[in-house]
Amino acid sequence: MRVNGVLGSGNPAEMEEVAKVVVGFGFGFQCSLMRDSHGQTLPLSDEALQAYLRIRGMKGRLPAVLHDNFQLPLARGERKPWKCRAGARHFEVDGAGLVHLCQPQTGSPAKPLAEYSVADIRQQFDCGKSCSARCPIAYAHLGSRLDGLRGQNSAQA
Ligand code: SF4
Repeated sequence: MRVNGVLGSGNPAEMEEVAKVVVGFGFGFQCSLMRDSHGQTLPLSDEALQAYLRIRGMKGRLPAVLHDNFQLPLARGERKPWKCRAGARHFEVDGAGLVHLCQPQTGSPAKPLAEYSVADIRQQFDCGKSCSARCPIAYAHLGSRLDGLRGQNSAQA
């Protein structure tokens, strides 16, 4: 079992205490980072960053293969270069049957699933995403991890 907390809005010391208790009970504790209204990661304050680094050092975090190292530059306010494959490796389908790249990019492309073709998947695989530099979506980073050495040369979305 894993407990997830969001760091960046409340008191970082309290979050750290919660993490200690959770890990002390033998559970995993995972920190997500606050997002702005566009779904982009907000940088942490110095105090929150130090708490975040200490929480990362606690036992009971994710197995190494599922590491969340992509969060480190984001927490420091830096940009993270990577290749997002949203719309290809994964996408979301809403109740009306429309395909969306991910939760922050709801509305893009909003195409009916029945019309979402292999060509769409290939286009999204190859298409850079202008929102990638501070993207907080863990499953997107995970899903794209093995594609780091493959090209992605189309114009940005
Ligand atoms: S980079 Fe990809 S996963 Fe992240 S917000 Fe943009 S489209 Fe979504």
